[in-house]
Amino acid sequence: MKILVVGGAGYIGSHMVKMLSKAGHHVVTLDNLSTGYRDAVKYGEFVEGDIADSDILNQVFSSTPFDGVMHFASYIEVGESVVNPGKYFRNNFSNTLNLLDAMVRHAVKHFIFSSTAAIFGEPEYVPIDESHPKKPINPYGLSKLMVEQALESYEIAHGLQSVCLRYFNAAGADIDGELGERHVPETHLIPLILQAASGRRESISVFGNDYPTTDGSCVRDYIHIVDLCSAHLLALTKLVKGSGSKRYNLGNGNGFSVIQVIDVVKQVSAKNFKIVETNRRAGDPATLVADSALAQSELGWTPVYDDLAVIVEHAWKWEKNYFCK
Ligand code: UDP
Repeated sequence: MKILVVGGAGYIGSHMVKMLSKAGHHVVTLDNLSTGYRDAVKYGEFVEGDIADSDILNQVFSSTPFDGVMHFASYIEVGESVVNPGKYFRNNFSNTLNLLDAMVRHAVKHFIFSSTAAIFGEPEYVPIDESHPKKPINPYGLSKLMVEQALESYEIAHGLQSVCLRYFNAAGADIDGELGERHVPETHLIPLILQAASGRRESISVFGNDYPTTDGSCVRDYIHIVDLCSAHLLALTKLVKGSGSKRYNLGNGNGFSVIQVIDVVKQVSAKNFKIVETNRRAGDPATLVADSALAQSELGWTPVYDDLAVIVEHAWKWEKNYFCK
């Protein structure tokens, strides 16, 4: 297949580009490098540009008859979205419409969208399946849900078919150690704990100790980046073969508390470090765990790296080799 990966220079996008290329697909990355890295795009063609720019989109779509588009280019910080919602609605929603309009102009019919567990808001039950009510509690989650909803109208009007994949907590790194997570600023739990383990930060903060969980800290479902990417490849392959539009939740179905994740990092790294208990972070639900049975049965998707110690091991290898050499 010929695939346009928008946001292919970011954490998830760069792993996706590698997987697609290794599987023999022709890949073009479009990325404005606002948060991604040119050197993370190690395979395929690269075009620097913004999806807000219709001229660039016309050039890219004219250059290659794409079978499908995978869209990873979005802002992802919940806290920032609360204080600067315009940034999130403009890029994550409005600019995505610009991309969809370009697809319509160029008759590209298959779209894989990076969605998020944040579209569900405060869980009414766990594990969260696809029919769980969608009531986002921050502009980030809302911006993603708005795209999911707009896609239904684009399908009716233009026949554009889509698969929306709602990620729980993406983690881990490329098995070969070639790629990994590089967010600035880093806000995600596992890379922050690894920074404490490697000595790049003094301590790790545990945000809240009074949640209704076994140890009082928040519980999340961590999914290996490679498993996440394999679900995208299966989804696009099926979509191109005519499976029709779908929505899937992607996680391992196992919840780990912040304290449990810290313990796993200590075991894997054999390092000790300071833990500081602080206040809750605004907008954090107590427990987010995915029910991914639908993705497993319909896509034939099976997570391979579903052991948290393995996820942490791969991320630890990246932390040591990339940041600490
Ligand atoms: N967290 C924490 N300390 C940190 C960063 C995160 O205790 O320094 C907690 C956070 O409150 C959440 C969990 O770790 O309960 C996962 O947070 P992350 O930002 O990695 O992902 P999110 O669940 O927000 O997508």
